[in-house]
Amino acid sequence: EMDILRVQNLVKYFPITGGILGKQIAKVHAVDDVTFSVKKGKTLGLVGESGCGKSTLGRTILRLIEPTSGNIFFDGKDITNISQKQLRPLRKEIQIVFQDPFASLNPRMSIREILSEPFEIHNLFPDKQERIHKVLSLLKEVGLSPEAIDRYPHEFSGGQRQRIGIARALSLNPKIIICDEPVSALDVSIQSQILNLMMDLRDKYHLSYIFIAHDLSVIEHISDEVAVMYLGKIVEYTSSENLYKHPIHPYTKALISSIPRHNVVEKREHQVIQGDLPSPIDPPSGCRFHTRCPFAKEICSKQIPELKNLGSEINSHLVACHFSNELKNNEIL
Ligand code: SF4
Ligand code: MG
Repeated sequence: EMDILRVQNLVKYFPITGGILGKQIAKVHAVDDVTFSVKKGKTLGLVGESGCGKSTLGRTILRLIEPTSGNIFFDGKDITNISQKQLRPLRKEIQIVFQDPFASLNPRMSIREILSEPFEIHNLFPDKQERIHKVLSLLKEVGLSPEAIDRYPHEFSGGQRQRIGIARALSLNPKIIICDEPVSALDVSIQSQILNLMMDLRDKYHLSYIFIAHDLSVIEHISDEVAVMYLGKIVEYTSSENLYKHPIHPYTKALISSIPRHNVVEKREHQVIQGDLPSPIDPPSGCRFHTRCPFAKEICSKQIPELKNLGSEINSHLVACHFSNELKNNEIL
């Protein structure tokens, strides 16, 4: 088994109720028929504007949110419907790093307590000395000094707090870490330090990551593969190399052309995405991107485009657009 995680046709709708009877009147299409896999030791970048369903997807994989339908396979095992009790040992193997390390670290707990907590929950290192030793080694792994152990979260900078968040995620030797915009709240100069640390740890411990971001520039160097999401659906999914060098979907192209140093997209196609992201409640018909797509034709609002492979069997390049072949061949639409 090469994949550590596989998500198959995953759907998450949130019902919206209303009226005096509290009947369902609409639903939020947060995640809509999403399929992808993450290889062992590799990183899948998951990118899209805020509100496109990336965080819901991350939380559904962790079973913090129950999926509406579809399946989640972890290390070959279907974990979609297993009980919370059965899930408990797997909680060690699937960890999360949050966007805002300050909100996710209890301000009243010292770093020693924060990093010891996972051991307490899972009954690991009951010997006090051994536990301290383990906490110190975690601090070292993330580039913090031993003195940090008796300090509190507010005494650290944003970047240092994210290092603590990473240390906590690492503490139980996970196989995969879901990184939910872990550098989005940090200064650009600090972002690369944290990204480099995460790449080093991934390679050292053969970790897999799902790296969620709203910006394609952030995940360029860390991702082996990238899935671009728009309003709950994957619109393009391929190797990082394909995606940045030969993007096909109009939405991906627009995201890439907003990265200053990328000039791979031809001049006539340079554009900022027009308009706001439509609401995921009652999203646009057909191709959900049609209200903002410069190439939209009549069919686009009528038929949902399928995710088709325009690459090869081994180097797949999935694109959901009615005109993906024409766009791939640079034909003028
Ligand atoms: Fe644009 Fe139509 Fe392709 Fe959607 S299907 S991305 S609207 S051209
Ligand atoms: Mg989010």
